[in-house]
Amino acid sequence: MKKRILVVTRTFGKYSRDPIDFLEREGFEVIKVDRIDAKALKGVDALIVGTHPVTAEMIESSDLKIIAKHGVGVDNIDLETATNKGIPVTITTGANSLSVAELTIAFAFALSRGLIWAHNMLFYERKWESIVGQEIAGKVLGVVGFGAIGREVVKKATCLGMKVLVYDPFVSKDSIRLYEAIPVDELDQLLKESDIVSLHVPLNEDTRNMIGERELNLMKRSAFLINTSRGGLVDEAALVKALKEGRIAGAALDVFQEEPPDPNSPLFECPNLIVTAHIGAHTKEAIYRMNMMAAQSVAEFFKGKVPKHIVNKEVVDILKRKGYQEAS
Ligand code: NAD
Repeated sequence: MKKRILVVTRTFGKYSRDPIDFLEREGFEVIKVDRIDAKALKGVDALIVGTHPVTAEMIESSDLKIIAKHGVGVDNIDLETATNKGIPVTITTGANSLSVAELTIAFAFALSRGLIWAHNMLFYERKWESIVGQEIAGKVLGVVGFGAIGREVVKKATCLGMKVLVYDPFVSKDSIRLYEAIPVDELDQLLKESDIVSLHVPLNEDTRNMIGERELNLMKRSAFLINTSRGGLVDEAALVKALKEGRIAGAALDVFQEEPPDPNSPLFECPNLIVTAHIGAHTKEAIYRMNMMAAQSVAEFFKGKVPKHIVNKEVVDILKRKGYQEAS
């Protein structure tokens, strides 16, 4: 009988049929849906999922053998329950790093030159007013988190002539220096010295609200905050206060505590805020890479291989004991 794969991510196979053709050639039945609940996961062997919540209850009663995250942030998946059931959870490491990094740099330019506000003024109000911005060359960029995306941001920023500070206590200082950036020991130091602060860390219990009122108060009044990682990293109420009071000059958010944000959120009252609807990974190139990587993880697994990029490492040993081979 064919193995069944449930896909709950709208962009899977949307711009190219390659990932669906690939899975069908490998003998899978691919079922695309918009939503899932516990019932939908019965009789399903694999799940390819974007940001839809995959709760403990759903995993507990499911027949899933593998969950392939279409992306890298696994905060929507109950990892503990997956691990307890011996279900590997894979991610598409690196597939969207370039796209998120490019959006981050686009935000840096948009904030520094007042690009969105300049456009709105002429386009919607027909006002011919010149906004005086700033160059980003020579400015200090503070990168929080030196993983796949943080590194791409650092590469681009140094090419643009920025001085880059990096805070990531989990990587070696030498690896940061190799990228011509300066490692800092404390987040506070980075916040105090940066003209633009950009967040590239995962959301977990240690990083939730890592930027709150105290941290925003440490930033320069002329500084900008960029968050293309996860909404929960920034205390939105504190950000609204800081933006309204001019405690910082502006911010750009691609991600929100609640998505989509409440249309009446006070965020929309802040004229010095740029917002986008979680589009960091939404380029045709990144989507294609994520589609194919997620599909390949599932296919490898059912061929008896330990897929690459498993986040719940405890499961790797269980798979090896069952005879799964290391993927080449
Ligand atoms: P990654 O795992 O490669 O890197 C994360 C880095 O953060 C690691 O180097 C880690 O050491 C560091 N880190 C962890 N906790 C930290 C802390 N408390 N302080 C400082 N550094 C810390 O992940 P990535 O691929 O670079 O992605 C980063 C995040 O971006 C993801 O977790 C995801 O939430 C988000 N993301 C958003 C989009 C989007 O569409 N906007 C797309 C992809 C990823």
